[in-house]
Amino acid sequence: MGKRNGETKKESAQEPHGQTYPRPPWVPHSVSTEDDLCPDCFKVVGERSRYKLVCILGKSDGGLTVGALTAEMKLRQPTVTYHLQVLRSVDAVAYTREGRECIYTLNRNAHCFEECKIPY
Ligand SMILES: [Zn+2]
Repeated sequence: MGKRNGETKKESAQEPHGQTYPRPPWVPHSVSTEDDLCPDCFKVVGERSRYKLVCILGKSDGGLTVGALTAEMKLRQPTVTYHLQVLRSVDAVAYTREGRECIYTLNRNAHCFEECKIPY
């Protein structure tokens, strides 16, 4: 799916304090304790839509289907699916299959939310 800048390296998983990224402007200063984000966390909120996705999922208790997320995000479904895949790649979301639907939930135990305190 197109080029993915800087998303090919995996070997830094054991070493979270390597490269950091500045906190994106759309992540509110009031709720973020970090000014620098590790690569995994930057993957989660480094894109405005992805951060919004995290916020929406963070507010829902039982999780949401891709359809519901698509309606909420006002994006095309393949775009939402792509963002969900990126979130899954760093374990930030989990999903369960119910019939033909996938229900996505935020994985609050994920590194980003527990250790790096990504706000949502
Ligand atoms: Zn992190």
